[in-house]
Amino acid sequence: MSSKNLRNLIITVVLSTIVVLGFFSVAYYFLSQNYIDRKNSESLFISSLTVSSNIQNKMKDDYQKVYDYIISEIGEAEDGETSYNSVSDAILLQASSILGYTLNKAYFSGDTIHIGNETFALNDAIYEYYTKPIAIYSFKSIIDEYVDSLNYLVFRIHDLVLYTEIKNYINPLFDQYSDLLDESYYLIFEKTGRINYIKDGYDKGRTLYFDYINRYNLSYDYNKLSTAFTESLEGYEVLNFSGVKSYFLYIPILKDMDQNMYIGFVFEYDKVNADNKYLINTLIIISVSATFVVGLLTFIFGYSMYKKNQDLSSNRFSYYFVKPMTITIDRRGKILRHNRSCEKNIKEFSLFENVEEFKVVEDDSKIMSIIQRQDAFILEFDSQKEEEKIYVNFIPMRVFNKYILIGYDITREHKEKVINAKIASFNQVTNLPNKIIFDKDVGNYIVTPQFALSNTSFVAIDLLDFNKINRLYGYESGNVLLRTMAQRICDSLSETFKNYNVYNVRTSFFLVFIKDISNYNASINWAKKIIDLLYDPIEIKEKYFIQVEAKAGLLNVDEELKTSASTEVIFENMNKSLERAKQSRLIKVALYNAELSSSFTRDQILEQDLKKAIEKDEFEMHFQPQFNIKTKKIVGFEALLRWTNPKYKFDSPEHYVTIAERNGMIIELGRLINEKVFSFAKKIENTGISISLNVSPVQLLQSGFVFEIIKTYDEHKIKSNSIALEITETFLMENRDNMVSKLRILKEKGFVIHLDDFGVGYSSMLYLKDLPVDAIKIDKEFTKYMVSDKITRVIVTRIVQMGSSLDLELIAEGVETERQSELLSRMGCEVIQGYLISQPVSEAEAIKLIEKYNGLNVKVETKVKDYKNDYKEILEETEEEDESSIDESIDDDSSNEDDIGGIE
Ligand code: C2E
Ligand code: CA
Ligand code: CA
Repeated sequence: MSSKNLRNLIITVVLSTIVVLGFFSVAYYFLSQNYIDRKNSESLFISSLTVSSNIQNKMKDDYQKVYDYIISEIGEAEDGETSYNSVSDAILLQASSILGYTLNKAYFSGDTIHIGNETFALNDAIYEYYTKPIAIYSFKSIIDEYVDSLNYLVFRIHDLVLYTEIKNYINPLFDQYSDLLDESYYLIFEKTGRINYIKDGYDKGRTLYFDYINRYNLSYDYNKLSTAFTESLEGYEVLNFSGVKSYFLYIPILKDMDQNMYIGFVFEYDKVNADNKYLINTLIIISVSATFVVGLLTFIFGYSMYKKNQDLSSNRFSYYFVKPMTITIDRRGKILRHNRSCEKNIKEFSLFENVEEFKVVEDDSKIMSIIQRQDAFILEFDSQKEEEKIYVNFIPMRVFNKYILIGYDITREHKEKVINAKIASFNQVTNLPNKIIFDKDVGNYIVTPQFALSNTSFVAIDLLDFNKINRLYGYESGNVLLRTMAQRICDSLSETFKNYNVYNVRTSFFLVFIKDISNYNASINWAKKIIDLLYDPIEIKEKYFIQVEAKAGLLNVDEELKTSASTEVIFENMNKSLERAKQSRLIKVALYNAELSSSFTRDQILEQDLKKAIEKDEFEMHFQPQFNIKTKKIVGFEALLRWTNPKYKFDSPEHYVTIAERNGMIIELGRLINEKVFSFAKKIENTGISISLNVSPVQLLQSGFVFEIIKTYDEHKIKSNSIALEITETFLMENRDNMVSKLRILKEKGFVIHLDDFGVGYSSMLYLKDLPVDAIKIDKEFTKYMVSDKITRVIVTRIVQMGSSLDLELIAEGVETERQSELLSRMGCEVIQGYLISQPVSEAEAIKLIEKYNGLNVKVETKVKDYKNDYKEILEETEEEDESSIDESIDDDSSNEDDIGGIE
């Protein structure tokens, strides 16, 4: 070859190299850059979806856990209002420990929110978040005057708001997925673009558009994004985010919970592409060789494109692919492809042919229907490790007529969840299983043959007034009380039965489930016994003993119930008998019978009977003396209502008075009562002893009340100060403006005003001096605990001191022991009312008492009276004279009818 020819060849080769190189470089750039962008964002999507779906699931899970726990502690709210006050710090602490982070509490009430000790008006923005169970926002955004702009994750349970700082919540979660996300940014924002959280950034009141996108992309059309947001679509953009060229991916979360939220992921463009650089370089070198052999070049180009494609799914190029398992399926569920991750993690994965062969966890729907809904789901597989299971959370993505399932190993989280579920099914104080487990156990048992063939009893046990005890003594002592209660129940069951379970549904509410009972007498007797055992003093603090009253409702399963039993029916019927026992003054164990569940509730029947009783006047007043310890004389009587109908003889007036109040019958009933009380007052007018009359709030609010009672007063022509009206403190305080003028008129007329149940509700101490009141009645709960509890004693001392300084008379209620009487007298309270002196008695008996104490001026007995025994006496008497009334609560089938009734 000549040198000239050689030169020409070289020139040709060089020129064609330059041309070909230029051509391929340009072609490559346009072809491949698009291609790479698309591929990159797809792989980034997979990581981002995995993370966002896991975060979303965690939020939902946490919400469910805390919801279940709160409801198990304080009960499901009626008419949407949770009693915020019953969510104690102890409950809050427990909820926090279940979730593993600190929760704070606030609560909504009308259009205000209470945070700490302060109350704030809500602004209009609140309505966007108000109805949502899970939300992320700052209080500043819902309260105009609020200063703190920290963003919180907020769980709402009825009116209760539990919140935790979003940063503390979300950072560890993202950290957990840092290998998937590399050093990307992530943020949480609302559909409006308002940012509620941004990793390491300033998130207070910033918006996506103004602060992060628009300023750096002047020509960028934000409409595209905001349309996607309003339609809750996911997507991605390549744009300058905060000035750095990035992939910006946005994924809606909590869609099914009606949230406005999005998680956004921002990956730096250069970083993502850095791993691709070597490909481009390789390509250039290969392109040079193409000048020598175009065919070879074409081949190499083709090869390199092929290789690039391969590399996209290889570890080196995009390690975003490493973690997730991906399975491609057709519309019928047939597995078309899967990645290596599947085989690496799952035992013999390649043997699966169709998704129907997979085992779905915690979801009963068919797997294909879950996939079609594009809901996330969890699958359980045998793992590559011997004897171990692997749990994989899959997110289905629809791609044309196929689905890609993107799976992420959540074995650790799943196990944790199972453990947490265990925590959620046990009462934290007593460690006994709760209602969730009760339902499960009962549900499983009632379908077995044993249930049909043997005897089963259910017992519901609850304390009267556990909340008061909690308030008086604090939660620590309350917990000691509950644990002792649980202990006593379990111990006595184990002595009596072989086959039983105990559950603690909430605070003092226990359920007992006894199987295989030889004779129902055994469960009836046990129920009576446990109530007695629970009455034994309980040491709640060192050397502080208290006595609590428990009631029980018993359900013995009969043949009929065997065929129709469900957990709901059993629970409801047990509750009805418990309610029955609680409503009664004397019955401590009520046995379920059909009447309790007839289409009318017991209250409805009572209401009808009450109506007739008012027409026929089946009422009597009993009178309980108020006794001056110094002068040893009776200074007054409190008139207490009794219904003489045998069916209701043992019902507490508190119960039927409440029902009468509810439907307005109290007005008519009140007239009957007034008539009786005024005529008795007239009879004893000369003794100077006054009679106090309980006046219901409904009567007081009625417009003609003052006029009417004054008329009755005039008709009987009684002396001034012969009648005292008892008004509850709570009611008076709630209706102060309205009531004060009414009371003034009554006082002028000659009525004495007593403030009943003082100290339990509001403390009206501050207002007391402005109220037209003559006496305060210290609530019997204070009397009950003042001997054993120092704090109660301090409160009573203060009430007495303040009462005296305002020249008010003091009457202590519920005085049962000499010790209480002594303490009160030392404090300066001279008038006592309670079983120590006498129970409420009939008119004739009351007159005898006047003769005994005031006429003959005898000394008071100093013997300590036990009111328990008093009740026994009453019971024995009445049992003889009137058995039918006691049998009200007995199932007709029961073989020991005379045995249950008003057991105490
Ligand atoms: P209250 O006004 O607080 O009545 C005091 C209650 O304490 C009475 O219950 C009385 O029997 C009971 N008691 C008296 N001494 C002792 C004691 O030493 N220890 C204990 N543990 N309790 C004692 P009762 O008669 O069952 O009445 C319950 C409630 O029913 C009353 O509470 C009152 O709110 C309402 N009530 C009763 N009679 C009437 C009435 O004529 N009209 C209205 N509106 N309400 C009434
Ligand atoms: Ca009273
Ligand atoms: Ca009272």
